[in-house]
Amino acid sequence: MRRDPSPDSTDMSKLLLAWFLDNQRSLPWRDDPSPYAVWISEIMLQQTQVVKVVPYFEKWMARLPDPESVARAEEETLLRLWEGLGYYSRVRNLQKAAQKIVRDHAGTLPRDEKALLKLPGIGPYTAAAILSLAYNIDVPVVDGNAERVAARLLDLDQPVKAPSTHRIIREKLKVWLPKGHARNFNQAVMELGATVCTPALPACGTCPVSSWCLALKNNTVLERPVKVPRPSTVSLIASVGILRDTDGLVYIQKRPPDGLMANLWEFPGGILKSKEYPEDALRRAMLEELGVKVRIGGKLGKVRHAYTRYRVWLHVFRCELEPPAQEITPQTAVEGRWTHMDELYRFAFPSAHRRIIDKLL
Ligand code: SF4
Repeated sequence: MRRDPSPDSTDMSKLLLAWFLDNQRSLPWRDDPSPYAVWISEIMLQQTQVVKVVPYFEKWMARLPDPESVARAEEETLLRLWEGLGYYSRVRNLQKAAQKIVRDHAGTLPRDEKALLKLPGIGPYTAAAILSLAYNIDVPVVDGNAERVAARLLDLDQPVKAPSTHRIIREKLKVWLPKGHARNFNQAVMELGATVCTPALPACGTCPVSSWCLALKNNTVLERPVKVPRPSTVSLIASVGILRDTDGLVYIQKRPPDGLMANLWEFPGGILKSKEYPEDALRRAMLEELGVKVRIGGKLGKVRHAYTRYRVWLHVFRCELEPPAQEITPQTAVEGRWTHMDELYRFAFPSAHRRIIDKLL
C-alpha cells in the first residue's frame, strides 16, 4: 500500500532513521560532528563531491584543527590546502569567519542562526547544517539530495529550485523531522538521496520509504525533480607558456587579489582570439601580459579543464625570451618570479595549472 507522506509521517520518519543507522557511510565529519568539523566539511562540499572532499578534509583538520588555527594561518597555507577544490572565495571567507569566531564568539561557532548568518560565507543552508548536524537543533537541511528525495516523495511538478517549491520542501521536512533527532534525520534524508534516490537510477526496490513515494506510485520518478535547463556551456581555448631562463628556472606570476582565482599563481598565457593560432596567441599574450618577446620551443601537450559553465583547452608550450636579456614587466599580475621546477609545489595554483605541473613537466 502507498500512502501520502503527509500529514502523518511518523512511520516513514522512523523507518528512514532506522535505515540510516544501519546503512550510513563512514565519513570523517560524521565520526566527529563538532561544529568546526561540520562547518569545514559543509564549505568544502559546496559544488564538490564527497569522495573528492574526504582527503582534503582530513589534511585540513590535521593541519588546522580549530578556528584559532585558521584565523592565524598564512593565506598561502590556506590556498595550498584548498588547491584543486576551486571556488577560492570559499577559503578566504573561511578565514574571515574564523577571525570573527575567535574575536566575537570565544573560538566556538555560535548555536544561533542569526549569529551564524553574520559570518562570511555562511548562508541559510550552512547555518542549518551546523545547527542540526553539530548541535542537533530541530531545523531541516535542504541540499540537492534532500530536494530530490522530497520532490519525489511528494511528486512535485514545479521546478525544484523555484523559491515556492523550496518553501514547500522545507515545510514538509520540518513536519517529517522527529523532534530531538535532527542530526540523524537530516543526514538520513541526504544519505538516501546520495546513495538510493539518485538522479539517474534510483534504487526504488531497496528504498526504505518507497511505500510513501508518490512519484513511484504515479510512475514519474525520472521526471522528478523538475529542473530548469542549465545555461549552455562555453568553450574556450587558451595558450600557456612554460617560460624558462638560461639557468632552467621557470617563470610564474600571481593573480590579482580580486576576481576569479584571486591570489593564485599561474603560468603566463591567454585566450585565443577568433582564427588565431595557439602559438600566435601565446606570443601576443607574452607581449601584452609581460612586455616581452618569446621564442616558442615546442609543444608540451594539451590540458582540458572544466569550471562552472566553462570548458577550457590549454595548449602548453615551452618558450624562452628572445632576445634573452629582456626585463619582464607584469601588466595584470601583482607579482612575478623565476623559480626552480621542484619548488613549484610550494605555491598554490589553479587546478588546470597544477595538472600541467603534474602531467606535463
Ligand atoms: Fe526515491 Fe524511489 Fe525511494 Fe521514491 S521510492 S524516494 S523515487 S528511491
